[in-house]
Amino acid sequence: MQIAQVAIPVPMYQLFHYEIMLSTTDIIGARVLVPFGPRKVLGIVVNLVTVKNDEQAAQLNINLKKLRAVERILDDCPVLSEHMMTLAQWMSDFYHHPIGEVMHTLLPASLRKHQDGKARPSVQSISYYRLSSNQELHLHASELVARSRKQGELYTSMQQATDHKCSVHELKESFSASVIKALLDKGLIEKYDEAVKPGLWQSSLKIDTKPVPNIEQSIAISTISMCTSFDTFLIEGVTGSGKTEVYLQIIEPLLEVGKQVLILVPEIGLTPQTVKRFERRFNTRVGVLHSNLNDSDRLSVWQQAREGSVGIVIGTRSSIFTQLKNPGMIIVDEEHDESFKQQDNLKYHARDIAVYRANKLNIPLVLGSATPSLESLHNALEKKYKFLSLPNRAGSASMPSQRLMDVKSQKMQFGIAQGMLDKMKQHLENGNQVMVFVNRRGYAPALLCHQCGFVEFCERCDNPMTVHKIQHHLQCHRCSDVRYLPSQCRECGASDMDTFGYGTEQLQQGLSELFPEYNSIRIDSDSVRGKGKLDRLLKEINQKQYQILVGTQILSKGHHFPDVTFVLILDVDSALFSADFRAPEKLAQLITQLAGRAGRSDKSGEMWLQTHCPEHPLLQDLINNGYSDFARYALLERKHAGLPPHEFQVCIRSESHKKGLANQFLILCAETFTQFKHAKVLGPFPAAIEKRQGRYRFNLIIQSASRKYLQEITKQANAALIQLPIAKQVRWSIDVLPTDFS
Ligand code: ADP
Ligand code: ZN
Repeated sequence: MQIAQVAIPVPMYQLFHYEIMLSTTDIIGARVLVPFGPRKVLGIVVNLVTVKNDEQAAQLNINLKKLRAVERILDDCPVLSEHMMTLAQWMSDFYHHPIGEVMHTLLPASLRKHQDGKARPSVQSISYYRLSSNQELHLHASELVARSRKQGELYTSMQQATDHKCSVHELKESFSASVIKALLDKGLIEKYDEAVKPGLWQSSLKIDTKPVPNIEQSIAISTISMCTSFDTFLIEGVTGSGKTEVYLQIIEPLLEVGKQVLILVPEIGLTPQTVKRFERRFNTRVGVLHSNLNDSDRLSVWQQAREGSVGIVIGTRSSIFTQLKNPGMIIVDEEHDESFKQQDNLKYHARDIAVYRANKLNIPLVLGSATPSLESLHNALEKKYKFLSLPNRAGSASMPSQRLMDVKSQKMQFGIAQGMLDKMKQHLENGNQVMVFVNRRGYAPALLCHQCGFVEFCERCDNPMTVHKIQHHLQCHRCSDVRYLPSQCRECGASDMDTFGYGTEQLQQGLSELFPEYNSIRIDSDSVRGKGKLDRLLKEINQKQYQILVGTQILSKGHHFPDVTFVLILDVDSALFSADFRAPEKLAQLITQLAGRAGRSDKSGEMWLQTHCPEHPLLQDLINNGYSDFARYALLERKHAGLPPHEFQVCIRSESHKKGLANQFLILCAETFTQFKHAKVLGPFPAAIEKRQGRYRFNLIIQSASRKYLQEITKQANAALIQLPIAKQVRWSIDVLPTDFS
């Protein structure tokens, strides 16, 4: 009898046994439909065993009487390659996560469903839109689209596109279906399919003109290109130093010999411009994977990558699970970015997966950033990674000078010091753009009654509600709960409600009152919601339709604002006094990234940080010596404090509606861990967000100088913890190498 060991996506660590009638030998890594309790679920075959009698079965812990059979084999070949199966096993061990759930995560969403799968379905063609051939119509195009701005934009973008064509999924990202349909109906554009020839993309590889690399780029390019096996490179290069150009030149020889390259970028950094830069250079199709993609588009890219019909795959965090037919290199751009760490369910870090995969595939891994994480920098200084540096901007653009603004006893308007407003005025009068950064969306972070002091709170999160005046509501930024904006106090009835603090909304409003002759724009997750909105706003900013830019984090990622000559960062002090030991690193990264977004050669810019503590050593170091110096100093500090990356941490998180229970569970965890001599147990502590959606949240940190040891003891402790009755009463999880304690 053939018995399949099957991984099933349930929160249990073991594999499950089923009898299987084999129709194919290529079964390991294929999907099967199996009965599981009263349900039918989808599993992955991990192993096959042959059992001749009861004795053999007993040895394998299989009860033949209770054995059920595989209902159906869904694939005629594995969906997960041998390499991916090994990865899944490693992830399950490393992250202490059930194997079935890990394997599920490695599959594109459409293959997680029950349908009869086609693991080897070929993508025969790709659908495009192009300008129609009716010349007569195009003569009158401007009249035809005159009544709709969106249609006009779509028409212009088709005219500007290479060969006047654009893939269906790309166009859908920037324009709504109704706008596309309108142009189709008017006959201005048409849809057609272009055949794909698997594995032949490199024959059409045409290389567009490229700049001559400068000396630092040349060193980086030749060092990496000489490497044909596994090695990790860290490129530390200021924004605009030509990192992307280095990527382009190191992948060129790989594409020429038919190898594929996987490039990871942060969520917000994946703009059409980034993708176009790769497409234009190589005249090859680029597979793009991001969170807005629908399931079938995602599957299509996944298939093309695994059958080798795309040379380049660019994607966000989860695209690290893309299988490649002929892998040549993995690149992680802006490797410090927090979006590479998944913060819920399977809490993996895409950069760690990249290291594992590159090692197993025996290919080079390139990490690049203007502000490398202390983890990667540490590895480079320890010579585990090869370090490459691009210290200068490639073109002639210069970096803005950085200065501190002491706001103590300054006159303030909308949270901005008068001195800063005066400077802003000068820059605006000189015809430049100014940018103000505040890490808070909405109008104000709290609403209170001026008579009785009552504050509007979200009871489920014990958190003040943020005022959103434009939408006329209050919103809890922890649970997103929304409530109408009251004009009277709920407690004393007085109609004297006041806001506390400043958010982007209020800043934009305030600045447009102070500078009525200039246009202002707000860039935050509220204002850029909607298809292609961010891209449109960024384009309008670069066309100088706005002079005053107010925004959050989004401004710091991936975009360039050449005409911005004045950058102001409000409220840097909260990071200086944060309980999170990573807060200074994150602040320094943010400041440096923001500085890198502004300026160009002929305009010298300035950047100001508003603070009450201008003498703070962290700020002094950053301002005077730059990120690179700051980071090395911060690493030293962490060493003295015995903190990561010098030591390793695991965080056990627990949540419950009952405060005592969440804490109690972690106290038991702490007891379990104290038996291990070479680990420190810290906590339990309340999480930075102590309550969310009615649940109290606590963390326990286990720390050790040895990652292996930490992994081993966590495994042992986990096995004991899942047996505890209280483990079923709280929501808990293990976060390996945590990056965030909220
Ligand atoms: P980064 O990825 O580090 O931000 P990019 O590769 O995007 O830098 O380069 C910034 C700008 O400088 C781009 O417009 C790029 O085309 C240009 N550039 C890069 N390398 C060179 C070079 N060697 N000579 C001239 N221009 C360059
Ligand atoms: Zn809430």
